[in-house]
Amino acid sequence: MAKKQFKAESKRLLEMMINSIYSQREVFLRELLSNASDAIDKLYYKALTDENLTFNKEDYYIKVSADKEKRQLIITDTGIGMTQEELETNLGVIAKSGSLAFKKENESKDGHDIIGQFGVGFYAAFMVADVVTVTSKAIGSNEAYRWESKGADGYTITPCEKEKVGTEIILTIKENTEEEDYGQFLEEYRLKEIIKKYSDFIRYPIKMDVTESKLKEGSTDEYEQIIEEQVINSMVPIWKKNKSELTDEDYQNFYHEKHYGFDQPLKHIHINVDGTIRYNAILYIPENIPFDYYSKEFEKGLELYSNGVLIMEKCADLLPDYFSFVKGMVDSEDLSLNISREMLQHDRQLKLIAKNINKKIKNELVSLLKNDREKYESFYKSFGRQIKFGVYSDFGANKDMLQDLLMFYSSKEKRLVTLDEYIERMSEDQKYIYYATGESYDRIDKLPQTEMVADKGYEILYLTEDIDEFAIKMLMNYKEKEFKSVSSGDLGFEEENKDDGKDADLAEHKDLFAHMAKTLSGSVKDVRASKRLKSHPVCLSTEGEITIEMEKVLNAMPD
Ligand code: ADP
Ligand code: MG
Repeated sequence: MAKKQFKAESKRLLEMMINSIYSQREVFLRELLSNASDAIDKLYYKALTDENLTFNKEDYYIKVSADKEKRQLIITDTGIGMTQEELETNLGVIAKSGSLAFKKENESKDGHDIIGQFGVGFYAAFMVADVVTVTSKAIGSNEAYRWESKGADGYTITPCEKEKVGTEIILTIKENTEEEDYGQFLEEYRLKEIIKKYSDFIRYPIKMDVTESKLKEGSTDEYEQIIEEQVINSMVPIWKKNKSELTDEDYQNFYHEKHYGFDQPLKHIHINVDGTIRYNAILYIPENIPFDYYSKEFEKGLELYSNGVLIMEKCADLLPDYFSFVKGMVDSEDLSLNISREMLQHDRQLKLIAKNINKKIKNELVSLLKNDREKYESFYKSFGRQIKFGVYSDFGANKDMLQDLLMFYSSKEKRLVTLDEYIERMSEDQKYIYYATGESYDRIDKLPQTEMVADKGYEILYLTEDIDEFAIKMLMNYKEKEFKSVSSGDLGFEEENKDDGKDADLAEHKDLFAHMAKTLSGSVKDVRASKRLKSHPVCLSTEGEITIEMEKVLNAMPD
């Protein structure tokens, strides 16, 4: 049987595609600028092998200009241009990517900076424009052609005049509707904003005529409006630069430019990985807790770039919850994007990157702890709670990863200490890592239960945050030393001190204890004599594994 080709209502298909792929209209500009950058790249690659061509980087740029009266947005590039035939195949055939073909042809050379691949980005222009007019002159050609389309109706191609090689795209921007303000795409500030957001690291200058208020010459208070051509994008991504070229200030500037935070970053981590997976990243540990950090509104995530073009503003999969405070960006050329370039097709590469990043953050924190105690403590003050949550959550799956990062207040040192430091100071006869829980260090100091342990000369960790004890219970032990609450029944001392309660129940006090138990019934389960008291007349203790502090937290939790 003869096979039949599918027929498609191309008008409807185009409409559907344009309106369903992208979640935000503003990305049309990203798509057109990426195409322009690809077109210049192609010229560059051609020049590498073609002796008749020279490539002076200064001659190549992209220009964006808006004409509000005509409602026109114009994007001009000095790239390779398109012949009549190329206009036909690349812009007349949906899902045909000249760039992908180019990349494949040039695979052996380094064509991997080219962004295009799906052959649909161009049509994003119809999200904001009624008419799209493309005028192009290809390299090595004397003729220029004009492609024009109103979208679903099809297109025309006619010969025209164009002096320079390259492409000019004119979008006639749609009239505003009640729901949609299309006029924003003709506003200088808005265009700058979109360029900065998505295309800041396009490798060629993106220029715009910008209106600036400047002091009139010779005047101190009179201003005049001056139109100045400015380059909007930063071009060279700082993450592709050599670490040795960059100063702390450069990293701080980047942190603020990208609005990662208003504070100064406590530490930056610059990663260049060129192995089975290739990626660059600049990560920051902030100094201060973001105002919404410990709330439901807080969204973790890193910016994700593919080849310098922003794909996702908050890629949550790149960070585990326990490092959710980390800010920054990741750029990789190895990501397989989906058609909207807003999502990834496979998360295999992403998982590899995430794993790698996770390790780097951990190592950086360990080295901070070793080399700059003060900074580490300041970090821990802000985000230690999150690390402790990390130890506790996922049924303790991350405890090995995180336990070295923990710190608790020490009865001996009167400051925060790590578990390693505690163990180093343990005397030979000490079997356990002791801890006490309470509202504040002061209060714990006064707890009757701490007295006996402190008398033995043992160090006690003071736990004052509600999550502390949950984390400790999840750890169970550290380097084979078990944790022990000072209020637990068996403190692990010699026999003489063992508090077995009943032995001490002297007959003569029996009535007194019974009376006390009756008076306090409902509040306590039992009243007994204790050998654990020294200067205090009485102490509260619990049976089993749950301590009084944990009980308080558990009782406060919603059912
Ligand atoms: P993609 O960029 O994914 O290939 P597009 O729909 O964005 O898909 O563009 C389709 C094709 O049109 C590109 O692959 C390229 O060959 C051609 N093209 C688009 N814009 C330009 C331009 N400014 N200069 C030269 N060629 C272009
Ligand atoms: Mg494209």
